[in-house]
Amino acid sequence: MPIRQLSETLIDQIAAGEVVERPASVVKELVENSLDAGATRIEITTAGGGKSLIRIADDGCGIPLSELPLAVRRHCTSKMEAGLQGIETLGFRGEALPSIGSVARLSLRSRARGAEGAHEILVHGGRQEGPRPAPLSAGTVIEVRDLFHAVPARLKFLKSDRAESAAITEVVRRIAIAFPGVRFELSGEDRATQIFEAVEEAHALRRIAGIVGDSFADNAFALDAVREGVHLSGHAGLPNFHRGTAQHQYLYVNGRPVRDRMLLSALRGAYADAMPRDRHAVCVLFLAIDPRDVDVNVHPAKADVRFRDPGLVRGLIVGTIRAELARLELRGSTEGASGLMARFRPGGGTAPEPGPAPRPAPFAGFDERPHEPYEIERSPSRPLDAGWSAPRPSFGGLQPSARAELVADPAPPERAEFPLGAARAQIGKAFIVAETGDSLVLIDQHAAHERLVYEALKEAIHARPLPSQMLLIPDVVDLTEAEVERLCAEAETLQRFGLHLERFGSGAVMVRETPALLGEVDAGALVREIADELTETGSGAGLKDRVDHVAATMACHGSVRAGRRLQGAEMNALLRQMERVPASATCNHGRPTFIELKLADIERLFGRR
Ligand code: ADP
Ligand code: MG
Repeated sequence: MPIRQLSETLIDQIAAGEVVERPASVVKELVENSLDAGATRIEITTAGGGKSLIRIADDGCGIPLSELPLAVRRHCTSKMEAGLQGIETLGFRGEALPSIGSVARLSLRSRARGAEGAHEILVHGGRQEGPRPAPLSAGTVIEVRDLFHAVPARLKFLKSDRAESAAITEVVRRIAIAFPGVRFELSGEDRATQIFEAVEEAHALRRIAGIVGDSFADNAFALDAVREGVHLSGHAGLPNFHRGTAQHQYLYVNGRPVRDRMLLSALRGAYADAMPRDRHAVCVLFLAIDPRDVDVNVHPAKADVRFRDPGLVRGLIVGTIRAELARLELRGSTEGASGLMARFRPGGGTAPEPGPAPRPAPFAGFDERPHEPYEIERSPSRPLDAGWSAPRPSFGGLQPSARAELVADPAPPERAEFPLGAARAQIGKAFIVAETGDSLVLIDQHAAHERLVYEALKEAIHARPLPSQMLLIPDVVDLTEAEVERLCAEAETLQRFGLHLERFGSGAVMVRETPALLGEVDAGALVREIADELTETGSGAGLKDRVDHVAATMACHGSVRAGRRLQGAEMNALLRQMERVPASATCNHGRPTFIELKLADIERLFGRR
């Protein structure tokens, strides 16, 4: 067959394959256009999961009559004045409308501000009609009917109306979080109407709570940090407010919703010590960055981005969240306390006011999996008579200098001036009861000590290079040349963690030694995992995570068990140590190590307030 130029319509349909994957991507493109046009009200109507109808009406600046034909022509855009560097609008490729017009029946009706009247232009399967006069008082209305009727192959890949309709909801929610000043209304015969009223910037959390859930607002902390001109803001959930998927992580770069692997991995890193490995934090993060320092032109759907300095962005996210977690941690979990309150029953007689109402179950409607109850029985409980200090775990001859050794305090405080108070009793050989000036504190002795041992081990481990173990036969791992280069650039850091590797010709590395801490490892798999991570995030934090994980396991085995009776001095020593290590407010698995019940609440339980 001879080579020939493809027709305009075919070219648009090919582009459409990437820009409009499903009805939700059409909604995303059109809503982005409305936002770029400065709209403050956007109404979205759908039918048949968006397959039969998507209609978007906005009160934006509109399109002048003379530009209507251009709006639906490929590679025509009113945006991107300064070229690909420094894109400040959501759109810039000039592809959405022609792509949609090539695979659906598109009608575009608009009235530019100050124009005499409105006009309409139609595009059916790539063929244009109009413009001709049409009634409309202001803004733009775009209707997309019979999506993909021109490409039945694509139609077959779509999910049920219900699933497509849900995907549209998700797109609108994600965008609505980033634009609190815009009113969104989502309705249609295939859904219940949802309205997100406009709120002032200062009340952005209200918009977020309306979308992510009220319990998020109660269980999140605000973020606001700037590093080298990159501004991180938004809200991040407390560690014990975790979910089974990363779906509740809303990430934005300059107002654009993104699903970026590096950002997701940074979040994992930020919570790595505070949450079980298979759980995910809930958060809404906004990054504001000089548009010249971020490339949004990675994929036609514009959900991927590339940062000029990924390490800076990662460091900002991990550093800010960790610092905030450390600051908050000694505050303890009020969730636990209110649950506790709800469980107390007054002893007989008519029930007085039961105190504050228990919190509503977090995130009703989400795939909430109850936190696993902590079973003391499950920890292998050797009787631990060796005192408070952790039995020395042997790992490659390294002696942790900062072992969590609890030196018994000979004079327990009479007055409870410490944050965690004075220990008064031990119950069930597992929990310490302490008293502060205005509260009762219950401490899970095993969980708390495990965390202290873990923190101490980590400190010891990262204070000096880790021991390695020589492989009998060096392992040659085939990689791409780019991966080899990235690995070799990090070789020194990796060596600190006990992984010794060197270039082996082109496209391969030779591994001579692996971290002794990890025991028998598949060197090839380890190196590939690190290479992947370097490619994705520009940092090899994964090896550190793995080493930390081993430390966590050792800590679990090396800490004081539940089931051991403690002396008063030992208990107080544990409390003082916890106060010095803020991370100790949660155990290595993200559960609280202590719960505080205010005296005022206790009084309320007895009907005294
Ligand atoms: P892009 O958004 O990348 O520029 P589109 O194909 O999505 O490309 O839109 C083409 C042009 O049509 C936009 O640049 C803009 O000028 C105009 N346009 C599209 N939708 C609207 C709207 N809702 N209000 C005003 N102008 C719009
Ligand atoms: Mg656009």
